[in-house]
Amino acid sequence: MKPAEEMRFVFVCPVRNKIFESSHFSLRDNRGVITDESGNRTLDAKVALHDPCPFCGERHVYHASLLSCPFGG
Ligand SMILES: [Zn+2]
Repeated sequence: MKPAEEMRFVFVCPVRNKIFESSHFSLRDNRGVITDESGNRTLDAKVALHDPCPFCGERHVYHASLLSCPFGG
């Protein structure tokens, strides 16, 4: 198990529509794992970047369900 601060997620800049990696983020508004009408389990939380986006300079906030499987496609 790696420490949480070494986890790298893939994010998409919604302004430039480009992909970047960051390990500097934290969970906000974490309500735990929820199950939707289709039986899919997702984390109901927001992911807030600590660092400015390398493309547009904003600190984006994403819903965790959008990032649940960044490498699985
Ligand atoms: Zn951006």
